[in-house]
Amino acid sequence: MSQFYKCQREREDYGQSKIMYRRSMRITMLKKIGSLLFALSVLSLVIFQPIQEVSAEELSDIPDRSKENIQLLIEKEIIFGYTDGTFKPKNPVSRQEATAMIGRALNLDNTKQETTFPDVTSHMYASGYIASATEKGIITGHSDGKFRPNETVTRAQMAIIISRAFNIKGETKRSFPDVENDSLYYEAINSIASAGISVGYPDGTFKPYNKLTREEFSILVAKAISENGDYVVQEPSEDVPEEPQEPEEPKDETVEVIDERIVTADSLNVRQGPSIDYDIVGKLTTGNAVKVHKLEGDWAYVSHGELKGYVHTYYLVAKPGEATPRTVAIDPGHGGRDPGASANGLVEKEVVLDVSLMVRDYLKDSGIDVVMTRQSDWYPSLDGRVAIAQKGNADAFVSVHANAFMSSATGVETFYYAAGMTDRERKSYHLAKFINDRLYKAMDMNNRGVKNVGYRVIKATTLPSVLTEIGFLTNDHDARKLKTQHYREEAAQAIALGIIDYYNWRD
Ligand SMILES: [Zn+2]
Repeated sequence: MSQFYKCQREREDYGQSKIMYRRSMRITMLKKIGSLLFALSVLSLVIFQPIQEVSAEELSDIPDRSKENIQLLIEKEIIFGYTDGTFKPKNPVSRQEATAMIGRALNLDNTKQETTFPDVTSHMYASGYIASATEKGIITGHSDGKFRPNETVTRAQMAIIISRAFNIKGETKRSFPDVENDSLYYEAINSIASAGISVGYPDGTFKPYNKLTREEFSILVAKAISENGDYVVQEPSEDVPEEPQEPEEPKDETVEVIDERIVTADSLNVRQGPSIDYDIVGKLTTGNAVKVHKLEGDWAYVSHGELKGYVHTYYLVAKPGEATPRTVAIDPGHGGRDPGASANGLVEKEVVLDVSLMVRDYLKDSGIDVVMTRQSDWYPSLDGRVAIAQKGNADAFVSVHANAFMSSATGVETFYYAAGMTDRERKSYHLAKFINDRLYKAMDMNNRGVKNVGYRVIKATTLPSVLTEIGFLTNDHDARKLKTQHYREEAAQAIALGIIDYYNWRD
C-alpha cells in the first residue's frame, strides 16, 4: 500500500486520491438514501423552474456584494431566478447553461438545431447557442468529440470562454500564485483580470479548478458587459437582413500564400465572407491541408484544391513542415531516493529505466530525436523533468511507469490530461491512445484503456503529454512478464511504435 502511494505521489495526486476515497465512502452511505434523493431531485425539477419576471430584490438569497451584477443579468434576461423565489447563488453552472447565458448576452442565434456533437441533439434547449458559440470559437468540444453539456464549468474554463466571447486580450499585468505562467489558462485569466473583470479570491489566489458558481458567473459576465459598454457581437438581424456585401471577386488572392494550415474540425464551414453571416460555399474536414492567402480578424481566406473561402482561424493549426524536428521526451518515472513501487522482486524505478532506454534506442533508429529526463538512477523533480523536456525542444512528453495496487489488478493503462479546450490536449489524447493500443497488445495484457487524469507531470507542461503504466508489479502475471527481457523489449517497442504512430498522424 505504501508503495502504491509512492507511485501516486510521483503523480502528485496523493491528496486527491485520499479525498476521492473519502468521497467514495460518502457515496456508499448516500446510496442508502439514494432513492429518496432521486425523488427529491425529480421534485425539485418540477418546482424550481427558472423564472424571468422577478428582480434581484425579490429573490431571497442574493448576497449584497453581487446584487447589482445579478440584477443586470436578470434585466437583460441572461440569467434567471427560480420559481421558489431563490437564485441559488452557490449552485454550479453547467457547460450547457454557461453557453446559453453567454449566447443570450451576445444575442447569438438560438434556433434549436443538430450540432456537430453526438451528445447535443436538436431537442436540447441550448443546442442553438451551442452550435453558434462553437462556430464562433467561443466554446469547443472535448477531445473525444463530445460536448458534455452537463459537466460543470471551472473558473479557468470560464475565463477562456469570457475572454473569447468578449474578445478580451488585455495585457497580463495581474498574476496569481496558483496560475502558473505556462498553464493553459494563464493568458485568459490574466487578460480578464487585467481588464478588471475578475478579482480572484481575497487571499490573492484565482483557484482555476474550482467549480464556477451562478454568483461568480453573474459577476464575471456583468463586469465583462460593463467593461465593454453594452457589448453586442452582432445586432440580431431585423426583418430586412443586411445583404452581405458581395465579396469583391477575389483578385488574385490565391496567388500569394502566406501560410499553410491543417483543419482540426469535422464539417468546417467555408464561407463567402469573414463572418457567419455569409453563405456557406463548402466544407472542410479534420486533417485537410489549406493554403492561407489572407487574414481578416479571426477569419482566414483559404484554398483547398478548387474550394476557396473564409474559415474561422480557431480551427486551423500549424502544419508540421518537413523541417519540423520530431523530438520526444522520455521520462522514466521515479529514480534515486524514490524507488516507486516494489513488489514481486521488482522495483519500479529500475524496470521503467530499463524499458525507457530501449524506447530511446528504437526511436533513434527511426529518426526521432529523444530527450531523456534521466538515464541513470537519480531523481529529477517533477518540474525538473518538464523543464528538461522543454529545454531540449521536445514536442511531446512520455512518462513511463509501472503500476502497483491490489494483487488482482492487472494490465496496461495510459493517462493524458484534457480540460477539453486545446490542440495540445487533443494531441495528448491521441498520443495516449496510440501508445496504449500498441502496448496492451504487445504485452498481451488486459487493456485498462486511456484515462483523463491531471497528474502534475503531464499537466504542468505545454507539450502533448502522457503517462503510461506498463503493467502491475503487484500482479503475479504482469510481474512475471516484466521480469523478462522479452517483454521489456516488447514494451519498449510498443511505446516507440505508438510514438511513431502519433508523429505519422500529426503530419
Ligand atoms: Zn510510478
